[in-house]
Amino acid sequence: MSDQPDTIREIRINPIVPSESVLVSTARGMRPRKEEAPAPRDTRKHVDRCPFCPGNEAMTPPTVAASPETGDWQVRVVENLYPVLGDESNSGNLVFGLQQAIDGYGRHEVIIDHPEHGIALHEMSEEHLFRLIGMYRDRIRALYDADARIQYVLVFKNFGPAAGASIAHTHSQVIAMPVVPENVYNEVIHSRQYFEKNRQCIFCSLIDEALTFEAKIYDRESGSVRRKIDVGQYVIERGEHFVAIKPFASRYEWEVHILPLQHASDFIEINDAQREDLSRVLKRAMARLDAVIGGAQYNFFLHSLPHNNDFSHCQDSYHWHMEICPRTSIPTGFELGSGLFVSTISPEEAAEQLRAVVLD
Ligand SMILES: [Zn+2]
Ligand SMILES: [Zn+2]
Ligand SMILES: [Zn+2]
Repeated sequence: MSDQPDTIREIRINPIVPSESVLVSTARGMRPRKEEAPAPRDTRKHVDRCPFCPGNEAMTPPTVAASPETGDWQVRVVENLYPVLGDESNSGNLVFGLQQAIDGYGRHEVIIDHPEHGIALHEMSEEHLFRLIGMYRDRIRALYDADARIQYVLVFKNFGPAAGASIAHTHSQVIAMPVVPENVYNEVIHSRQYFEKNRQCIFCSLIDEALTFEAKIYDRESGSVRRKIDVGQYVIERGEHFVAIKPFASRYEWEVHILPLQHASDFIEINDAQREDLSRVLKRAMARLDAVIGGAQYNFFLHSLPHNNDFSHCQDSYHWHMEICPRTSIPTGFELGSGLFVSTISPEEAAEQLRAVVLD
């Protein structure tokens, strides 16, 4: 079916952060990852003793925010009972990385995504996702506004035991940090360097490339077509304002990124029409992943331009996006030791399988 060569073995450099690379090796013998059936996730609708299930609100710290604001909540935000970052232990210790920031100041909140205990993102309605994405935006804004020392507000979600979710009830987390996390920092810096050379946002360039159905490489001498590359093969879902793509050099085999088609550096500027479209693209992308992987357990991260004066000139070079990283295997010694991620399915093949899922 696929006209990919039988075996691919190549090192691909992440075009945005060149220090990151992935070994794409579809050869049979190259399986450094442990294939393991992940612990099944909890799919129950209601659990009597779950602190996040409706009716058990007294078991959590008080509500920070809820949507709707009155009546039965659909999305509810509480302080994290075991915060990574506390309020007043200011050590002034500005180093990169989440772990090193533990002694810093900051906030750690939990967003209870849905009243239904074990519901997956793709099972939520588009209206619900619209509400949830609105809550992400509101919390990020509120946390930046609350403390001028905050340099980054990270929204992420761990879903399923394979992704390290410690509470089965579907939830997201918001961490307001005194530092910019290293991966966001690297993206901001490298995309700025690209911009200074090319006067163009690298994310926009990659989207343009992904949307161009075909690229031809011509022979300089004869003018004949030397090679055709079907670059549209990286798109897995496209909406009016958003696109979901399989990155050319992704760390995780089923990693998918969602980006706004129109250049935008800051997620919190999202308008209602865009938010509606994002809800649809997200739901469909997650449904594709769930169908192909057979029950997706994943981490996702929202990457947006930090509210930090050092980066205010990067509005035209940085492009916000969502990274969805499904956990299908456990990194082994080779990957941990080399820092080189290994993908045993090519991103082109993965995208083709994701696109082939029939959704209603
Ligand atoms: Zn629950
Ligand atoms: Zn852009
Ligand atoms: Zn990113």
